[in-house]
Amino acid sequence: MTRPSTEQHRGLVLSRRGALALAGAGAAGLLIRGTPGAQAHGTLYWHNEIWSQPTHRYNGGTPNNGSTPTSFQYNAGFYSQVEAWLQYYYSNTPGSWLAPIHLWLSGTHVDKTGSCGGLSGSCHSYARAIDFNYVYMQLSGSTQQAANCDYLWWNAQSGSTKTTHRKRYWAFVASLNYHFRDVLHYWYTPTYFSAARDFSHQTHVHADNGVSGSGLSTFPGSSSRTVQNFAVQSCLTYIWNLPVTIDGYYGTNSKNAAATALSRIGRTGPLTNSANWRAFLTETVRAGSGGYTP
Ligand SMILES: [Zn+2]
Repeated sequence: MTRPSTEQHRGLVLSRRGALALAGAGAAGLLIRGTPGAQAHGTLYWHNEIWSQPTHRYNGGTPNNGSTPTSFQYNAGFYSQVEAWLQYYYSNTPGSWLAPIHLWLSGTHVDKTGSCGGLSGSCHSYARAIDFNYVYMQLSGSTQQAANCDYLWWNAQSGSTKTTHRKRYWAFVASLNYHFRDVLHYWYTPTYFSAARDFSHQTHVHADNGVSGSGLSTFPGSSSRTVQNFAVQSCLTYIWNLPVTIDGYYGTNSKNAAATALSRIGRTGPLTNSANWRAFLTETVRAGSGGYTP
């Protein structure tokens, strides 16, 4: 597929927003909005939708998108960020990918010990974290997986099934990384990170605002091994077709590949520049979901 021009893309976004408003009006009766509850970690709010799109609890097996939406608890600020994220994701995926969007989650609020400092998983205590398993959308008229967070499943597939899910997976991670500094994906395991408790992030994707707070994320380009570096290297390799060693260290080869990627979208300077970082992520979302190489 060829890369859509900016003008064409924006036209599609506007028409899709109109379609979404109509879909949301029909579903409004199902939604529970903002019922507060006093919790050990501040006031949390129940929602069974994000940006008027239904959420479901994933308990294994094959998701049934016809099932009744499930309510989850959120910190108010985090919830508004998740809504902004879904609007961003929807605006940057192909115009033929339409709502309703079914979000399959394994959880938001889980009481654990520790503070919300990122990577420990304890942001779940404050409902400032979310775990995704699947995102379904209407792709060219049929319900399909826009994001399948079960790496162990799709990595065992072959041919275009594997490569399509891999591109969509990293597009999805990139969309979350735009809004949240800590996005834990399949590289976040005890094999690479001593802080990782288990291999569960091979089958779900976690995002929290423990580091980025109320702002958008930044990219420090740390020379230490980081989850974010792993994501950048994976996006360069699998979406931009700029293969680099995926080891979590943002070294010379990764910096050079990032510079090449940025040059393809008319930008100069390092990926650590905030505007470059956001432009890189947005093009990654568009290309990975749209199936083209930038
Ligand atoms: Zn989590």
